[in-house]
Amino acid sequence: MSELTGGPPLLQVRRLSVHHGQLQALRGVSLSLPAGNVQAMIGANGAGKSTLLRTIAGLHRPTAGSILLDGSDLSRMRPERRVAAGIALVPEGRRLFPSLTLQENLLVGRTSARPGPWNLDRVYDLFGWMRDRRSQHAAQLSGGEQQAVAIGRALLSNPRVLLLDELSLGLAPVVVRRIYDLLPQLIASGLTILLVEQDVSQAMRVASWVHCLLEGRITLAGAPADLTPAQIEGAYFGIGTGNGNGNGAPDGTTAAASGRPGSEGTPGAIA
Ligand code: ATP
Repeated sequence: MSELTGGPPLLQVRRLSVHHGQLQALRGVSLSLPAGNVQAMIGANGAGKSTLLRTIAGLHRPTAGSILLDGSDLSRMRPERRVAAGIALVPEGRRLFPSLTLQENLLVGRTSARPGPWNLDRVYDLFGWMRDRRSQHAAQLSGGEQQAVAIGRALLSNPRVLLLDELSLGLAPVVVRRIYDLLPQLIASGLTILLVEQDVSQAMRVASWVHCLLEGRITLAGAPADLTPAQIEGAYFGIGTGNGNGNGAPDGTTAAASGRPGSEGTPGAIA
């Protein structure tokens, strides 16, 4: 696994199950995210993608399974302690404070922050337009600008792992492209990224490894170059998979064509 995906895992999710009341949103999800990787989670509405990121960030409590950062179990840590350990979430919908200024929203990211290279100046250098507009209220910013502020806020916590939930939601394609063009710089600064994206082609462009989630299970995982459109379509919609439950391994990891059932991070496809 590690030679295929770039090194030992920085983040490991092991057989994670999460319920929202009676509804089981995740069913034994496992993944390994090596340091310096960008991995993407794709899947239809309601597949469980946001639940996965939010559970890693500590916003939902798993009913089973564990989450390890650099080998240490985070599963019982409160969200703010996970931020201090190096996990930062850019949530779906940005979640800025509209009545606070751009800079005040960024500074929210300093709460529970780790020491590290990211500070206001560095964020302003990354997003050239921000410095001059730091006193504007968040409500006055466009959707793309708000997304940039949400990313800047997460960077100010000096994360090791950045969780990006639906960056492209509601944004024009040109704006989305501009935001995704930043990822190589973020990786070069030492970050590791797990992103959720409904735009499959966007996910395939930026990620070195893609997981497809269907009804709470990973039904396909692999390097984009190794996955065919037919495989992705099948995994995404559950076509030919017995509603997505037949080809995932019993523990919810991927049944990969070239690996044993449940071998996480192995390039493969639904048979
Ligand atoms: P989307 O792209 O629509 O955000 P998703 O793949 O991110 O979908 P989740 O938001 O994780 O999916 O939702 C998975 C399932 O859990 C859905 O059936 C959703 O309705 C349900 N769900 C999510 N959050 C909650 C919650 N806080 N309370 C109850 N049910 C929830």
